[in-house]
Amino acid sequence: MSYSRMFLHDTHLKYESHRTGTCDTPQCDCGMTADTVEHFLIHCCKYYNERQEMLDFINDIGCGSKYKGCLVADTPRWASTVTFR
Ligand SMILES: [Zn+2]
Repeated sequence: MSYSRMFLHDTHLKYESHRTGTCDTPQCDCGMTADTVEHFLIHCCKYYNERQEMLDFINDIGCGSKYKGCLVADTPRWASTVTFR
C-alpha cells in the first residue's frame, strides 16, 4: 500500500471500502475496531511482525525515537557534512 493512497484515503482497507460501498463492514478482521489507516499502521495485531521489522529498520538508520527531531549521520563519511542535533 503506497503512502499517497493512505494519505488520500484511497486504500482497500475495510473502513474505506465500506465507505465506498464495496465492503459489508468497516471492521478489521482482527475484531479490535474499524480497519482504518491508523489501525493498520499502528495498532492492528495482524501486522505486529511487519511493524516491528519497520521500526527496527527506522531505528537502524537513525530516525528512531532516540533521535527525535534530529537528523544524525554517525558514519565518518557523513559526520563531517551532516550533523543536525
Ligand atoms: Zn486489525
